[in-house]
Amino acid sequence: MSFDYDLFVIGAGSGGIAAARRAASHGARVAIAERDSLGGTCVNRGCVPKKLFVYASRFAEQFQLAQDYGWSVEAGEFDWPRFIAAKDQEIGRLNQVYQRLLEDSGVTLLRGLAQFCDRHTLEVDGQTVTAEKILIAVGGRPRRPEIPGIEHAWVSDDIFHVPQQPRRIAIIGGGYIGVEFAGILQGLGSQVSLVVRDRLVLNHFDQDIREHVQLSMASQGVEIHTDTEAKAIERHDRGLTVWLTGDEPQSLEVDGVLVATGRVAHLGPLRLEAAGVTVERGAIAVDAYSRTSQANIFAVGDCTNRRNLTPVAIAEGRAFADTEFNQQPHHVSYHCIPSAVFSHPEAATVGLTEAEARAKIGDAVRCYRSQFRPLLHTLGHTTQVLLKLVVDGQTDKVLGAHMVGEAAAEIIQSLAVALRLGATRSDLNQTIGIHPSTGEEFFSMH
Ligand SMILES: Cc1cc2nc3c(=O)[nH]c(=O)nc-3n(C[C@H](O)[C@H](O)[C@H](O)COP(=O)(O)OP(=O)(O)OC[C@H]3O[C@@H](n4cnc5c(N)ncnc54)[C@H](O)[C@@H]3O)c2cc1C
Repeated sequence: MSFDYDLFVIGAGSGGIAAARRAASHGARVAIAERDSLGGTCVNRGCVPKKLFVYASRFAEQFQLAQDYGWSVEAGEFDWPRFIAAKDQEIGRLNQVYQRLLEDSGVTLLRGLAQFCDRHTLEVDGQTVTAEKILIAVGGRPRRPEIPGIEHAWVSDDIFHVPQQPRRIAIIGGGYIGVEFAGILQGLGSQVSLVVRDRLVLNHFDQDIREHVQLSMASQGVEIHTDTEAKAIERHDRGLTVWLTGDEPQSLEVDGVLVATGRVAHLGPLRLEAAGVTVERGAIAVDAYSRTSQANIFAVGDCTNRRNLTPVAIAEGRAFADTEFNQQPHHVSYHCIPSAVFSHPEAATVGLTEAEARAKIGDAVRCYRSQFRPLLHTLGHTTQVLLKLVVDGQTDKVLGAHMVGEAAAEIIQSLAVALRLGATRSDLNQTIGIHPSTGEEFFSMH
């Protein structure tokens, strides 16, 4: 049987574009469908615009620091609409870049929603196409909790386009997206209330990191409601009221509500049942090589709910293309994937948390911590950084490295190489650091 394409990719986000371009470079005839803007979540409503917001919000601290260093500066006013317009212009430029990259790779782009007819046939906005192999890379979407008035709340997709800065905002959810936006909006001058279901923000991170981030946020003025959930949202002519759980009737009066209570795979419109692809716990079930329950259908990225990060989706997409179109079978290793939270201050992590290490090797775990005021902040403004190593006391192997403080993402990113290669604490201690820097502390922890 002959097909229109060797590979049809559904979704032109991080994983889909990476896979399509790599497969085309191996000589495959490739098409990709996208229902929205090219680049997916990361480029349009995730990593990139989020980091631009983070940069915008950090100027408040820079103005304060400048004064500590003898400059006479006034913070001035933040112009939200001007920033949103500049950010949109940059995202528009990136959309064009992705279009050019696909064209230059010889990948055919079909605009529209792709839906399965059978396991080799898809319909894209009324057009029928067939392909020998199909890759599902449809990503995820924000989950909205089922509480009365939830239609009045924004999700992360919306916050990037809100026309006016909310003066008072309630953020529901203490995961990385909630924590990042709490820092962003607080830095931009909004009054932020963060509603967290647990005792601490950033579930799954190391306990010391969670405590340090939470204390730092509180000391900067974010009002944190722990062990609390939102039970209803009400709109009235003065704004919104968020009703909270708890023994006492408690509510927040705000101008906007952002719900950041997790994400789910975006499978609804795909008509997966027509292709017989198995879904488990809301995500597409795949093996290490991203193979689904159907031999010719594969899935990568957030829709498989493995590690929901852009570099992981890209690596999975490329590994799939090399395996299927270049007789070079390989798959992604999920060992020691670093990640960051672009909070205020920034947090980053690689490897095992102390709790995970204890669950694995018990009392053999040794932890080394260093908490200090970084040189940049010694002239007045006070903020502390925290560095932590989790070590196997029997082998001296470093199992985890965690940090809160400026440039944490950049520092932990490099340490990830050492952890992947099995570095011991003695290896780190024999490494000469760069002085004066914050990262050098990782090389002298006793
Ligand atoms: C607010 C936020 C901040 C984030 N920050 C970071 C960060 O700092 N670092 C990081 O590594 N990750 C971050 N992420 C996660 C990152 O964005 C995702 O892990 C990544 O985008 C996943 O890529 P993907 O290819 O799986 O899916 P996506 O990038 O979501 O791409 C899927 C694409 O498929 C399209 N699509 C869906 N269904 C169909 C269909 N039926 N037909 C046609 N097209 C379809 C969608 O429109 C979309 O363009 C963030 C996410 C969010 C929401």
